[in-house]
Amino acid sequence: MPLRIWREPLDLDKTKVRRAEIRIIKERCRGCGFCIEFCPKDVLEVSKEPNEKGAYPPKLVDETRCALCSFCQTVCPDVAIITIEKEL
Ligand code: SF4
Ligand code: SF4
Repeated sequence: MPLRIWREPLDLDKTKVRRAEIRIIKERCRGCGFCIEFCPKDVLEVSKEPNEKGAYPPKLVDETRCALCSFCQTVCPDVAIITIEKEL
């Protein structure tokens, strides 16, 4: 069995851990899929439930994978997805 050694940075207490919160405003979405296509971390996938427009908005697969790159927010033509940085 391989030996597992955990190392922690010496300045861990001074390090701020950034986490993302992704907000999806389903009613605004036109279902273009740009946010899903451009996400480098596969955080999003197509929802199975359509919105009032009949479009299928994205849904979160795993928010913890998010790199906070904001590509999804940048490419969305309807400002229907917003990335928020949280500090832990
Ligand atoms: S901020 Fe970047 S990594 Fe996070 S969901 Fe959007 S595109 Fe994906
Ligand atoms: S980029 Fe915007 S409009 Fe297009 S699927 Fe994503 S949230 Fe919906």
